[in-house]
Amino acid sequence: MLSALRYFARESDNPCTIAVLSTGVLKMYDGKCHCGNVCFSVTAIPEKLVDCNCSLCRRLGALWGHVPVNSVTVTCAPGSTTKYAQGDKTLAVVTCGHCGCTTHYESLQKDGEYMAVNFRMCDPDVVSGFTIRKFDGADSWAFID
Ligand SMILES: [Zn+2]
Repeated sequence: MLSALRYFARESDNPCTIAVLSTGVLKMYDGKCHCGNVCFSVTAIPEKLVDCNCSLCRRLGALWGHVPVNSVTVTCAPGSTTKYAQGDKTLAVVTCGHCGCTTHYESLQKDGEYMAVNFRMCDPDVVSGFTIRKFDGADSWAFID
């Protein structure tokens, strides 16, 4: 099984811009799991959020924003998350061991420059500012909207 990360690993598939306010300060997208153990801040603006129907993503109900690894800061208590790698093991979804929210996925490839954060962990006002694209990860590996 192909992973979403393999598909979304190229910059051309993931146009991002770095968010800078008129004051020159970096704008951050902040998200956290329900209990607050796992927090992330993102300084890249994904072009879109991806709603994937593959066997894993449809269960998670995630809205993925694919961003460069170096634009994301994740904080959590040591040993407090679980990682799950499916199929070809190119990525692992990371879930809070306390409240069960999946906050992001990481590349398991040595040179993986992209990861995704789950924008469902952000305020709904943040999500409403993005275009949401439906991706057919279950079958055709194409956007279907
Ligand atoms: Zn939690």
